[in-house]
Amino acid sequence: MKIGKDTVVTMSYKVVNAQGKTLDQSQEPTAYLHGDYDNTLPKIEEALDGQEVGFATTLKLAAADAFGEHDEGLVQTIPKSEFPPGVKVGGQLRGRAEDGSERVFTVVKIKGDKVLLDGNHPWAGQELSFSLKVIEVRAASAEEVTHRHAHGAHGHHH
Ligand code: ZN
Repeated sequence: MKIGKDTVVTMSYKVVNAQGKTLDQSQEPTAYLHGDYDNTLPKIEEALDGQEVGFATTLKLAAADAFGEHDEGLVQTIPKSEFPPGVKVGGQLRGRAEDGSERVFTVVKIKGDKVLLDGNHPWAGQELSFSLKVIEVRAASAEEVTHRHAHGAHGHHH
């Protein structure tokens, strides 16, 4: 079966940055619903479209095609007093960006009574290389299409 609109693709993946450091690697295969459901990056869908089980590729994506450029507007300094005690560098919390959208902020630095937060995706601003291997392709169920994501062992659980 070929990958196309409303197929569920199970794949293994590895994400490497421009310095050759592995950022993420699938411990188990992951499944996504193919067909512009925002389940994965558009460039990944483009590369896999029309392919079959066994297809493997390595995509090098510019930051803009991966997790976006680093947006300085999402870097904020906030008084430590506004945080629950025990705030640590590397910790994450939900907050609002200046445009009101909800984001996950990562604590980058704590200096004195100030906390530096970054609401960018941790991989923003990086050229990334994605190594993908297609393990399974199947037709999506009507329910999966309605939910706009894949179910099953390697998909969405709820
Ligand atoms: Zn669902």
